[in-house]
Amino acid sequence: MRLHLEGNINTYYVQTLCMIFFPGSKFSKEAQEEEGAPALSLRLEEDTDACTAYAEMSADGKKELAVQRFAFTKDMTKERTRKLAAGGAVMKAGERLLGYRPSWGMMTGVRPSKHAMELLLKGKSAEETRQTLAKEFFAIPKKAALATEVALRERKMLENHTAKDCSLYVSIPFCPTRCAYCSFVSYTSQRLLSLIPEYLNALVEDVSQILEQIRTLGLHLKTIYIGGGTPTILEPDQLRLLLSTIAAHCDVASLEEYTLESGRPDTITAEKFKVAKEYGVERVSVNPQTLCDEVLHRIGRSHTTEQFLRAYHIARESGISCINTDLIAGLPGDTFGTFARSFDKIMELRPENVTVHTFCVKKAADILRQNEEVYSRQGGDAGKCVDYTQIRTAMAGYVPYYMYRQKNTVGNFENVGFSLPGYEGRYNVYMMEEFHSVFAAGAGAVTKAVEYTPDGSRAPQIARFFDHKYPFEYLRDRENQMKAKLDFIADYYQKRGLLD
Ligand code: SF4
Repeated sequence: MRLHLEGNINTYYVQTLCMIFFPGSKFSKEAQEEEGAPALSLRLEEDTDACTAYAEMSADGKKELAVQRFAFTKDMTKERTRKLAAGGAVMKAGERLLGYRPSWGMMTGVRPSKHAMELLLKGKSAEETRQTLAKEFFAIPKKAALATEVALRERKMLENHTAKDCSLYVSIPFCPTRCAYCSFVSYTSQRLLSLIPEYLNALVEDVSQILEQIRTLGLHLKTIYIGGGTPTILEPDQLRLLLSTIAAHCDVASLEEYTLESGRPDTITAEKFKVAKEYGVERVSVNPQTLCDEVLHRIGRSHTTEQFLRAYHIARESGISCINTDLIAGLPGDTFGTFARSFDKIMELRPENVTVHTFCVKKAADILRQNEEVYSRQGGDAGKCVDYTQIRTAMAGYVPYYMYRQKNTVGNFENVGFSLPGYEGRYNVYMMEEFHSVFAAGAGAVTKAVEYTPDGSRAPQIARFFDHKYPFEYLRDRENQMKAKLDFIADYYQKRGLLD
């Protein structure tokens, strides 16, 4: 896509705005010179009172111009005001040119509910928050209402927040086979899967040391999340080793939540969930993605609907109190009809949590290499599917409790976690909204030390520590890395005076 900018505005921000209307666009030098490519020319002018943006967008031989003026106020930084003016002009020009109004307006970042939370913390009512999201950010009313509802629920979760709250994330980056749309680092080949025993020995050492650090510093461990990859790829004895190590170093009974991600139904057995329950796990995620076997085959999930149903019943029988199921709207080959049938069946099962993702194609995914036609401005049936889940869950007594967005989702739609009241997946909220520190163990894991100010008077103060991305690097450098991570955690808390 061709881009011409004048004025004080961040190029990357404008590129993300362009991607809303022209998904998959490139902004390389060659793309700038491409004859007939869509183009945006954006100019920002400022005086002492306000910032005015002029956007001219063209595609397919047509051209539209739009203007947006935004006054500088003491409630908002100049940078934010410029972004709102630029975003408003691009939204108007895009809508006129293409006849399409993006659901989330100019909200391109990961967390639309963050904007809602900021407004609520400034003292705006829920109604005022909804209206501001619609008027200033150009979100359509139902999305403004969704972001506000999620933010109100998140604010409730912050009621007992303390500066010493933290969570633990444990990474198992292995899967039995690779899904065609996956862009995570997850080992699937037999040669790499043979690393699991050695990896697990290093991991339990890492986990023990982090839990000891949490105890020594007097921090409050709220949730544990074992994710991946597919943690239930571990054999029952391996799972026992990991979970018993955790139980030996913390009081699992006092946790708010303890999750074992079990994503792939083809890895789930009654024995594994018996071990999980024995060591205090109270939340598992059993993910069908769709209950249409043809679509499952097409996206390279090596399990069937029947295997999912069997795994779900194993989870129910185990007595674990909270089951999450993940579904994806907008999968290649899925239609509104097949998606709605999948969703209805899930609603009949009545899991405590349902998470609906919008299909997202990242650069690394195999599905792009297969030249699938996956990018679509309006997202085909995905929007109808997403709407259906929001209406259907509300009718069944579920509430939306967390949400986030990713780049390159079909139609730019969101991912939403729904919950039966009282079963909200707390780790998801703490991690996504950066409400407290998350200490991470294992390859590819990112430790985030967070100082959060619940009244919103200061942005979260975040420092990150990255473990090595790949298991073989993690194994090679484990001692240095673990020591560096423990020092990082202690330093963060001591320097900020967050300890007694
Ligand atoms: S289960 Fe998840 S992490 Fe594993 S290959 Fe599939 S998408 Fe990737």
